[in-house]
Amino acid sequence: MPLDLIALRKHVHQHPELSGKENNTAKFVINTLKQFSCTIKQNLGGTSLVAIFNSEKKGKNILFRAELDALPIQEINTFNHHSKTKGVSHKCGHDGHLCSLLALAELLHNKPLETGTVYLLFQSAEETGKGAAAVLNSAFFKTLAIDYAFAYHNIPGEKLNTILYKEGSFTAAVSSIIIRLKGKTAHAAEPENGVNPALAMAEILQKAEALNQNNTTKDNFILCTPVHAVLGEKAYGVAAGEAEVHFTLRAWQQNQLDKALTELTALAKTGAQEHNLSICFERIEEFKANTNNGHAVAYLQTVLEEEKLSVIERKEPYKWGEDFGLFTQHYPGAMFGIGAGESCPSLHNPDYDFPDAITPIAANLFYKLAQKISNL
Ligand SMILES: [Zn+2]
Ligand SMILES: [Zn+2]
Repeated sequence: MPLDLIALRKHVHQHPELSGKENNTAKFVINTLKQFSCTIKQNLGGTSLVAIFNSEKKGKNILFRAELDALPIQEINTFNHHSKTKGVSHKCGHDGHLCSLLALAELLHNKPLETGTVYLLFQSAEETGKGAAAVLNSAFFKTLAIDYAFAYHNIPGEKLNTILYKEGSFTAAVSSIIIRLKGKTAHAAEPENGVNPALAMAEILQKAEALNQNNTTKDNFILCTPVHAVLGEKAYGVAAGEAEVHFTLRAWQQNQLDKALTELTALAKTGAQEHNLSICFERIEEFKANTNNGHAVAYLQTVLEEEKLSVIERKEPYKWGEDFGLFTQHYPGAMFGIGAGESCPSLHNPDYDFPDAITPIAANLFYKLAQKISNL
């Protein structure tokens, strides 16, 4: 029986799970894969799993990745397949992405490749930026020699099934940082007996503004956005003794992001010293830039021409971060976009739903890429 891709996707949509907790989604994927001639390795640094289609003949090792996780967003859609879990829903289309890989598994089972090995990676915790690192650090993954890695993301606002690609940076490098300042509380009537971080906090916010280079056409594009700040307590007899400032930074290039983070931590340290405060930093939610390899993009272009798909070669990267970036920092690879339709609600919006028309297009594209590359 061929896979009913729409029914599969709707089932996953109805049962969303948050990052790192995709146990039932992983089980569902494994149960679906069992009918195909592949080996399954599970629990790769969490709930991630990989299905291996090995031709037993020498050739390239190609990885295709999809994601398992949903988001902490209450779905407002009322269609039959709406999320059954309160406050959690598939609002990034990972339900659809993973079905594309299941469809690819079916293609590889029905028409096995003559050479090489294909790894279908169903990755946990994309949204928190933790899943890719956990997979790469797993003992099993360290033994693999991947030649090329590919993934796609659906892109609302673009024509349905138009392929969007770009050599070099495809999505931004994104990282967030928490700056914690610690002084000393005092009676609000005697602030001179305490060390109040208020001025240092204000200076850090102001100086960080100068790190921005908001011209997206330039290679050194940097956004340093304050996202949260807190000072002291709502206790009106107490002068504040602690503060926190949270920033999210984005850049086209990984080294530009690292440079901006170094500058931000340096200016914060100076501010803390000048005001006699202790300071510490916490880096969170790191997404490496998706850096698309020239050869990987060339293979993609050839397949797109052969398949006569409508394409857009992008001039600029996307400003969002995507955890697949870490794979492109380790292996030659490419992430590309597939248009989800001009009227499709934006990603992470409560009314978003993955358009099922994309699923077979993506699976076929991946299959053709595997065919092209596996016998090189
Ligand atoms: Zn997302
Ligand atoms: Zn996503």
